[in-house]
Formats: sequence, C-alpha cells, structure tokens
Amino acid sequence: MTQSISILGSTGSIGRQTLEVAEEMHLRVAAITARTGGARFEEQIRAFHPELAVLTDETAAADLRVRVADQNTKVLGGAEALLEAAALPAADTLVTAVVGTAGLRPTIAGIRAGKRIALANKETLVCAGRIVMAEAAAHRAEIVPVDSEHSAVFQCLQGIADRSEIRRILLTCSGGPFFGMPKSQIAGKKASDAIKHPNWSMGAKISVDSATLMNKGLEIIEAMRLYDLPLEKVRPVIHRQSVVHSLVELCDGAVLAQLGTPDMRLPIRYAFTWPKRGESRAEPLDLFTCGAISFSEPDRTAFPCLALAEQAAEQGGRACCVLNAANEIAVAAYLEDRIGFYDIPALVERALGAFPGAGDGTLDEILALDGSVREAVRGYLAEDKR
Ligand code: NAD
Ligand code: MG
Repeated sequence: MTQSISILGSTGSIGRQTLEVAEEMHLRVAAITARTGGARFEEQIRAFHPELAVLTDETAAADLRVRVADQNTKVLGGAEALLEAAALPAADTLVTAVVGTAGLRPTIAGIRAGKRIALANKETLVCAGRIVMAEAAAHRAEIVPVDSEHSAVFQCLQGIADRSEIRRILLTCSGGPFFGMPKSQIAGKKASDAIKHPNWSMGAKISVDSATLMNKGLEIIEAMRLYDLPLEKVRPVIHRQSVVHSLVELCDGAVLAQLGTPDMRLPIRYAFTWPKRGESRAEPLDLFTCGAISFSEPDRTAFPCLALAEQAAEQGGRACCVLNAANEIAVAAYLEDRIGFYDIPALVERALGAFPGAGDGTLDEILALDGSVREAVRGYLAEDKR
C-alpha cells in the first residue's frame, strides 16, 4: 500500500487527478514534475510542499526557483532532473503521468530504485515494453497500470496466477468523437474537434489518439507487454458507453469484466491501494440509469491507425517504437493545424516503411531509433510544406 508518491507530469490531466486522490488518501507528495509548469505548478508546490519540484524547461525552472524561495522545496531544471525525481528515496510509488517517450528513462530510474510504478504513460511500454518489463522483473518493482483498460484487466486477473489460463483480453474502446462518420467527413476534422472526447476529459495528445484510434492500438501493445501475450490474444472492442472498462476471457470460457463510471481517479486509487481497496467518494455506477450497453467491431478503414499499430505489434519491438515516435510528431503537427486528420496515419505508415521493425534492441538502440524517427518525420513534414 502506497504511503508517499512522486508524480511525473503533475500539471496534466492524470497528474491533477492523482493529486486529488493523494489529498483524499492523505498520501505524502515527495516530488512533482512538469514541462513548463506555470501558475498551476507553483500552486501545487504551495499546497503539497514536495521535497523536490522539477521543470524540464530550464528557464521556467530558474524563474520558479525565485518565486518559491519562501518554500522548503528544492527546484531543479532539465530533463536529467526527472531521473532524480523518479528515484527520490522519500517516495515509495512513482506515478508516470508524463506524455510520450519522455517517460521512458525516468520510468526505468524509478524501477531501478525499487518503486512501485503506477503507470499511466503508455508510450513507455509501447516503445520499450520488453526492456521495461525485464527491468521490473530484475528489480522486483511492481508495475500497476493506471490506464483504465489495463487497470480493468489487472483487476480481473487478481487471483489468476497462471497466464496460460487467459484465452484473450478484450480492450474496450469508446470509438472516439468521430465514430460512425464517413471517411469523407472525418478527413476534414480539425484538432479542435478531435479533443472533444465523448466520455473522458484528457490531455490533448491522448485525445487525438482516441479520435484516430491510435490510442487503442497503443493500448493493445501496452497490454501485450504487461501480460506477455501475442497480438491475437489482445483484441479491441467498440463499446460507446465507457461503462465496461475491459474484459478477460479465460480458458474455461468465463468472461470477467470490470465496470464503473468513467473516472480516472478509480484506477489511480487502485494503483495505490492494491492489493487492497479503499473507500472512495467517487460517483458510484448506477446500472438503472447508465442506459443500454453495446459492443461492436472497430472500423479499421475509417481509422487506419488501429491497423498500423496492429501491424507494428506483429513486426516487433522496434516497429512499435517507430509507430509511437512517428505518431507523436504527427499528432503534434495536427494539434498545430499543420496537417489533416489522415496525414497522421500516412506519416506513421511512411515511417514504418522506412525503418526496419524486427527485434527489440537495447535501451540505447531504442532511444537512438526514437530520435531518428522523429527527425525523419519532421523531414517528411518539411517536404510537404515545400
Ligand atoms: P497531459 O498532456 O494532460 O499532461 C502531461 C504532463 O506531462 C504535464 O504535466 C506536462 O507538463 C508533462 N510533460 C509533457 N511533455 C513532457 C516532456 N517532454 N518532459 C517532461 N514532462 C512533460 O497528459 P495526460 O492526458 O495527463 O496523459 C499523461 C499520460 O497518461 C499519457 O501517456 C497518456 O497516454 C496516459 N493516459 C492518460 C489518460 C487520461 O485520462 N488523461 C488515461 C489513460 C492514460
Ligand atoms: Mg485507456
């Protein structure tokens, strides 16, 4: 059971909800980090009195140091300082709520320091899942997923020690804001439309991923790595209502599911209380008012990112790294209105074709590949502008 936490990405959607849970559970907050921080980060320092606060933007960190000089919080700047926050002795649990591959090295630093990892940052498992899981096994670090689907699967699997009893995992998918629309209509959708998710309020990058269904593709790879399962045993299912958070089908035909209101504070709290449970003030699920629930196959023609992720998952660890890095750059360009909706899968597909995808590679190789892919995709974007 968690007593004290460090949060990577405390100003984001997951980071803020984590602080709400921490307050409710009276957890000590040892370290918080963000990119540029702003007024919200300063408020968090004043409210939670962490031992360490890190901003990866050095200029913002220097400015913050002056502003919170009256506090006992040490302020550090730069990406390397994230490693210090991740391994801080005062915390027993590390919440990885940064977005993107930026979370990879700090997650490994937390694992090596023996922390429980409350893992929200799925890109880390997509780009280097086998490396991260091997590190966790070597250091006996517990990885408890915070992603709602993976937390649901984790909850369903309590008491099931033998992974060969899993026939398949069914990851539920809301379908995102463009579900059911023809491709011609989706093609014109802007980032401002994509970030209006029907059921969940999330950061900008994951909201776009949910609209393209890349999020489900990344989550399939995340589940494959967490539970060491092949692609055919991790299947996506469209479920518009986001009431069933995922299901596990076992070898005897039993299907277990976890249901609840769409509230990320539930999986965050469970990552802290596991293997126990704790009282929560969250809205309970009312089965009599939540309406009918339905399930259907995803449409891989309207949402090609899902098919690309499945293709990468089959190719190997390097392909997953390429997929993830290309997607991060493409989504950033889409968020800036520089490209259209279907340019995202086009850029990802081009990157997947340009880099060999088989095998896992070492951590250094994966970090180098991640950098090369980003550079290549920035190049594709610059070509398109000419
Ligand atoms: P967000 O954009 O709201 O917040 C991201 C946080 O990370 C911020 O504090 C930001 O300052 C920091 N950050 C961003 N880039 C950084 C960098 N390069 N270096 C250091 N810090 C950086 O994101 P979010 O929606 O909270 O998502 C965080 C992670 O959790 C993502 O990996 C996402 O896929 C995953 N996740 C989110 C949700 C959700 O409901 N929001 C659900 C499941 C999983
Ligand atoms: Mg999810």
